[in-house]
Amino acid sequence: MKLLIVNSHQEKMSFNAALVEKSLSVLKELGHEIKLSDLYAMKFDPVAGRKDFPELGETDYINYMLEQQKASASGAFSQDIKTEQEKLKWADTVIIHFPIWWFSVPAILKGWFDRVFAAGITWDFGRIYEQALLRGKRAMLVVTTGGPEEFYSKKGAHGTTIDEVLYTVNHGTLYFCGMDVLPPFVGFSVFQVGEEGRKQYLAKYEERLRNLEKLTPIKYPSMG
Ligand SMILES: Cc1cc2nc3c(=O)[nH]c(=O)nc-3n(C[C@H](O)[C@H](O)[C@H](O)COP(=O)(O)OP(=O)(O)OC[C@H]3O[C@@H](n4cnc5c(N)ncnc54)[C@H](O)[C@@H]3O)c2cc1C
Repeated sequence: MKLLIVNSHQEKMSFNAALVEKSLSVLKELGHEIKLSDLYAMKFDPVAGRKDFPELGETDYINYMLEQQKASASGAFSQDIKTEQEKLKWADTVIIHFPIWWFSVPAILKGWFDRVFAAGITWDFGRIYEQALLRGKRAMLVVTTGGPEEFYSKKGAHGTTIDEVLYTVNHGTLYFCGMDVLPPFVGFSVFQVGEEGRKQYLAKYEERLRNLEKLTPIKYPSMG
């Protein structure tokens, strides 16, 4: 497999970093090709704007999505976007690591989606979901939470499940762009489960990585 690993945590000694390290070491040992996007280490700029299109002339107004579409045809994206898009095109599997922040992704990862998953590159008008441009590729989220597992249920403190929390990314972004989305790996309450709990998460995640090729994607209703 050709895997792109995305790390959206700023600390090298965090539990997310330990999960990223697992991805890198186990997948390498299994003989897969790997590229890494370590977003904080790269100082990835998450803010979408005019600077993303270096050939843009003087104009009072731009529609960001339509500029993305034009740049997709001409290749006129800023270099940092092009570099990430090349990695995305190269990979057949993308593993995205992040801690849940405010029921969502950290801003740096949101910006990576906003700027890299451009119209014309990952989807286009009339080309969404099964017809979108990343079809044939697989994606998996590897996330950690502060809240315990029992909070993430309809009757729990959060009143919603982790799958619903991740729906905007799994369905609204990855599946929208045509990817086959694998079930997420979730480390709940990584701070409170203690050393033993974290050891178990790392062992379970290693097992998941060793069986990656056998995993069945989440079945979403088809457009048809
Ligand atoms: C802005 C913000 C918003 C948030 N919103 C939410 C939310 O909506 N919902 C929610 O549930 N949580 C939320 N949180 C909490 C957040 O999700 C957790 O703090 C995060 O997931 C923990 O992951 P981490 O990698 O930062 O853990 P860390 O705190 O870095 O690590 C946890 C523990 O693991 C230890 N560790 C590191 N490496 C290893 C290793 N190799 N083996 C064993 N132990 C190790 C660390 O020393 C530490 O004790 C939020 C946090 C922030 C900052």
